[in-house]
Amino acid sequence: MISEPSISNLRLTGGDLCLDFINTVSHRLRPEEGDYLHSFRDITSWYQHVNGMSDKTIQTLDRLAKSYPQKAAQVFGKSIQLRELLYEIFLQVITGKAPDPQALLTLSSYISEAYSNMELVWSKDKGLLQLQFNAPALEQVNWHIAQHALDLLSTGPLKQVKQCPGCGWIFLDKSKNSSRRWCSMATCGDIDKVTRFQQRNKKRK
Ligand SMILES: [Zn+2]
Repeated sequence: MISEPSISNLRLTGGDLCLDFINTVSHRLRPEEGDYLHSFRDITSWYQHVNGMSDKTIQTLDRLAKSYPQKAAQVFGKSIQLRELLYEIFLQVITGKAPDPQALLTLSSYISEAYSNMELVWSKDKGLLQLQFNAPALEQVNWHIAQHALDLLSTGPLKQVKQCPGCGWIFLDKSKNSSRRWCSMATCGDIDKVTRFQQRNKKRK
């Protein structure tokens, strides 16, 4: 039996919060290799790992999850639905297809829920208006990801969103000449090098 992977070892190679969230399964092309997320608590641990929320917010959400375990489980179910939805949408974008209208409708529901729970506040430090969640809510973990996905999907650069041929992870290629092929050279890129070397040697024999 393969042991479940730990969030503290999760590599962050997506280049965007919503893509790193999609990459919380060990291997997109071999799902049996395990999942990093099993409960609401894993989602807040993930936020801590990616530095995606303040410690104070994470503590508040963990406290809420403890008081309302059923609600937390329900929100977690929606987190996984959102993750798989985003994987589907980004795969379609990568292959040059228009995203499935039904998938977009579901994403819209996450986004409208997020914005209906936000308010405009004036940030004195930045001298700018900012959108903030108006009250701590467990659903915030999903709204935050939906917002990032909307940003990326509506402003791009979507041509730079790619899928690693080794593990199926999705990443934003920020290399100068858009030549990045692997989620990481140290993992999938290296495995590819070794495999090709072995194949070459086999042919020689
Ligand atoms: Zn990979």
